[in-house]
Amino acid sequence: MRPQVIEKRGPWPVEPNVLDYARARDGFSWAAARAALDGLPHGRGLNIAHEAVDRHAAGPRAGRVALRFLGAEGERRELTYAALAEATSRFANALAGLGVRRGDRVFALLGRVPELYVAALGTLKLGAVFSPLFSAFGPEPVRARLALGLGKVLVTSAALYRKKVAPVRAELPSLAHVLLAGDDPGNVPGGRALGPLLEAASPRFEIPATAPADLALVHFTSGTTGRPKGAMHVHEAVVAHHATGRLALDLHDEDVFWCTADPGWVTGTSYGIVAPLSCGVTSIVDEAEFDAERWYRVLAEERITVWYTAPTAVRMLMKAGAALARGWDLSRLRFVASVGEPLNPEAVVWGQEALGRPIHDNWWQTETGGIMIGNLAALPVKPGSMGRPLPGVTAAIVRQGEDGRVAEVAEPGVEGELALRPGWPSMFRGYLGDEARYRACFADGWYLTGDLARRDADGYFWFVGRKDDVIKSAGHLIGPFEVESALLEHPAVAEAAAIGIPDPVALEVVKAFVALKPGFTASEALRLELVGFGRARLGRAVAPKEIAFLPTLPRTRSGKIMRRLLKARELGLPEGDTSTLEGGA
Ligand code: ATP
Ligand code: MG
Repeated sequence: MRPQVIEKRGPWPVEPNVLDYARARDGFSWAAARAALDGLPHGRGLNIAHEAVDRHAAGPRAGRVALRFLGAEGERRELTYAALAEATSRFANALAGLGVRRGDRVFALLGRVPELYVAALGTLKLGAVFSPLFSAFGPEPVRARLALGLGKVLVTSAALYRKKVAPVRAELPSLAHVLLAGDDPGNVPGGRALGPLLEAASPRFEIPATAPADLALVHFTSGTTGRPKGAMHVHEAVVAHHATGRLALDLHDEDVFWCTADPGWVTGTSYGIVAPLSCGVTSIVDEAEFDAERWYRVLAEERITVWYTAPTAVRMLMKAGAALARGWDLSRLRFVASVGEPLNPEAVVWGQEALGRPIHDNWWQTETGGIMIGNLAALPVKPGSMGRPLPGVTAAIVRQGEDGRVAEVAEPGVEGELALRPGWPSMFRGYLGDEARYRACFADGWYLTGDLARRDADGYFWFVGRKDDVIKSAGHLIGPFEVESALLEHPAVAEAAAIGIPDPVALEVVKAFVALKPGFTASEALRLELVGFGRARLGRAVAPKEIAFLPTLPRTRSGKIMRRLLKARELGLPEGDTSTLEGGA
């Protein structure tokens, strides 16, 4: 039987930052969280890059490794806080030399290489606005984002430029400078080699006065439910990154941290750059893509203590089998967390067996900028739950009436929209070019997340589904997550996605798509077995009526299952925006 609750008990290898949930909440204020940071010298405001880099470079952590890069071919490169401060100052000076000013937009289209991290932090130092793009995007998604964001500078490589930017360059009138990382100088109009430019620039740069509400970052959403939106974030967000790094990821001074997300989506920036550096830890960056064997090696050999990854990666590790994990010494690993999609209860418990730690789910969005709800290191985990709101965060289940008014649902166990009280520092301040859509996210003093959830009597939140994905069948609201988690309990199932398909009687019925684990073959017998299995677990009303096998499920590049695509294909409808589809153009 799977445990309903995983309790934690000391003695702790390192005392967790939150031992008592109620006390941590009561004792927390955003003002105090702000006071834990330095601020720019002489009261000149708050700048992300100062908190993440310069303040450590000026103190006892100067010689500590800030970023350790693992190259795809096995090469390693390290930047201490002191070296990172110099490199980012050079970048800021180089930008200034090109005439780039505060508020100008600097985009990056690069893999997880040092130049990407230097560009991000150097841009923030100058007071310009940084927007990272997935290097796997094709020309059209690159064009659309650069055009919407009025990109003035693009940091990329000659190879990426040729493939993804050259075909659309004529449509990007705002793009004035292209800075090329790597040795290939390319033949790029208006292009400059980044290396020599940085060498020629001064390693000293004084961060100009920065207001906490100055625009800092633009992040595009994953595009799971439609066309990606550009969420705008400000320098003050670092207060939340730092606080949640400590509270939700339990970061401590000596930690070696690995966030597996690409900075092309918000997790890879908030928790792949800003949070770990603002906490002064050593952060590992792996250039390579997922590979089960490689990932275990990184965990073991880099002696990772805190690991932040995604459900899709966990499912892939599960698919590879727990035996593979046992070949490695993972004894340093203290805390494992995941975000981005619902984490099936199977996966939480698998973590305990294979990694020696349960996996701690947490919830947030591009719009929230930082973790809002989470399972914390020392607190009981209920497998399948996202955990409880972080200190400083007020979350509720609400219903919005026809008249637009929002009412809180007080009774536990009742489904509704997940809503947050605005006011946390990393809250987005707008969608690029879509003020109306931004305003529509707020009503009656709440930020409406677009996700459906339940809260139990202990205050734990349970994800039901996205508003767009929920299935309405014979008067029931069915969350795909529940259906998928049940199917995942079957030994043959590696991945599952549930959608609603039209039904003359029930309005919709559930159809599930399933990808199998290695060693299993799709057959009519297995299909019938899974239909029966679903019915036994979920009951007739909720169980999938139809099941189809697919070799893999369509996913966003950030690893989320794209149910809307399965649905469009099933119903023969247009596929809509597929710019973030993995393996797509
Ligand atoms: P788009 O808004 O473009 O459709 P997206 O919502 O997937 O894309 P992100 O901001 O990257 O873009 O993802 C946030 C969403 O991911 C959340 O709103 C939620 O639906 C889902 N999510 C994140 N973490 C969790 C979690 N722990 N459990 C369940 N769902 C999660
Ligand atoms: Mg979203």
